Amino acid sequence: AFPEATNLGDGGTTTPQQPKLDGVSFSQVKMQRPPHLTDYLPHLKTFPNPLDQNQFFHPSNGFYLTTSDVVLRQIIYDLSSSSSANPSQHLAYQRAGPRKEIFFDPGHVRAAIVTCGGLCPGVNTVIRELVVGLWELYGVREILGLKAGYRGFYSMAEPVALNPKIVHNWHKIGGTMLETSRGGFDLDKIVNAIQHRCFNQVFIIGGDGTMRGAVKIFDEIRRRKLNVAIVGIPKTVDNDVGIIDRSFGFQTAVDMAQQAINAAHVEAESAVNGVGLVKLMGRSTGHITLHSTLSSRDVDCCLIPENEFYLEGKGGLFEFLEHRLKQNGHAVLVVAEGAGQNMIPRSDAQKEERDESGNPVFLDVGGWLKSELKKWWSRDHPGDLFTVKYIDPTYMIRAVPANATDNLNCTLLAHSAIHGVMAGYTGFVVGPVNGNYVCMPVQEVAEAKNPVNTGDHKWAWVRSVTNQPDFLRS
Ligand code: ATP
Ligand code: MG
Repeated sequence: AFPEATNLGDGGTTTPQQPKLDGVSFSQVKMQRPPHLTDYLPHLKTFPNPLDQNQFFHPSNGFYLTTSDVVLRQIIYDLSSSSSANPSQHLAYQRAGPRKEIFFDPGHVRAAIVTCGGLCPGVNTVIRELVVGLWELYGVREILGLKAGYRGFYSMAEPVALNPKIVHNWHKIGGTMLETSRGGFDLDKIVNAIQHRCFNQVFIIGGDGTMRGAVKIFDEIRRRKLNVAIVGIPKTVDNDVGIIDRSFGFQTAVDMAQQAINAAHVEAESAVNGVGLVKLMGRSTGHITLHSTLSSRDVDCCLIPENEFYLEGKGGLFEFLEHRLKQNGHAVLVVAEGAGQNMIPRSDAQKEERDESGNPVFLDVGGWLKSELKKWWSRDHPGDLFTVKYIDPTYMIRAVPANATDNLNCTLLAHSAIHGVMAGYTGFVVGPVNGNYVCMPVQEVAEAKNPVNTGDHKWAWVRSVTNQPDFLRS
């Protein structure tokens, strides 16, 4: 199963160490196949793929994918470790792409697109590419955009008919042209509306809550044995979804965060004992904060939810800042919105507070930190100059259109979703795994998390770039 000597193409040849993985073969790879419409509708008809007739594609050998085309989830192995030989680790996903036979007659497709949850750069690009892809690749002519999230299925607001002309420049616009909302998930009303409005393909763009909703919609569709395919496109600027390499919008967010960090740095440098404080998105994970820190190099301390910090005493934030200000005259702190939440005093009302979707409300860690820093300085250095400039660029970051890399990612996600649905898959989401786009069961992705691993090299690198304490109380 493992390759013999590999020709490197540049004349060199490597002879790999003899792997100790006797007996591991691809027959032991576990396929995480997404559900398929024929699982509960075994007699569905198939249709030839209209790409056969497409003047641009000229399908050749290998153009169409089959169920044997897979992408392995894990690609890094320690060949000296016996646990590498455990076949249960060799999970594989179905590669996304066009299939020779499809399970929908494009002339009878009625597609629905919905966007839920917070804004994220690239949502409009995904919508645009879904519309253009369905229209141009498969010849679908009935594509409807639901207004304002899940409630758009059953609210008074009529769905909008979409076509390539309407959406042609949406990838250049931030936000979501379909509007979004929180709350409003009423399973019965949603599935009734899907039946009622004769939708047979439903494209759902949203975050973790949205995907949990998509699981329920899919389960109900399957229970009612409806010929309706459900696909999710995970939207999270925080990059907190497991399994996939990265979510769309994340790289744009890291780009945009640089502007805020640069401004904080200028403010800090221009003051006596100046501190620039930037709060970045990241409720449960600190990926944006971490990547922004590593790419900026102006950051002195990076605070993320995965690494609890403290203020007072040995090894605390104040001691570190004291040292940094003495040494450098200024400091830049970057904090993820989910960091330090358990240190911020909450009133009883705040403890109970929930948003419309039922998520706990986060308190402003930046505002709290700013006031704690000021209290500390006036207590320990009365009369000395000290300035904290706090920047919260959240809405500036979320509201921009996707950058070039994210736009390409969004396009490939949309195409993967379209090909997957046409192939009859349902209850699945699409995403890049090890650089290749795959279709995965939505249930699996809805449960998968992607925390920053503070035990690995990347976090050690942050510590070496910033010199910040490890915040492990000794
Ligand atoms: P983000 O957190 O990135 O902004 P999200 O998708 O998590 O996006 P939410 O506001 O939590 O945003 O949820 C979006 C939609 O999903 C809402 O309509 C909400 O009612 C619905 N939803 C959230 N959680 C669930 C759940 N467990 N079951 C069914 N529906 C849910
Ligand atoms: Mg969420």
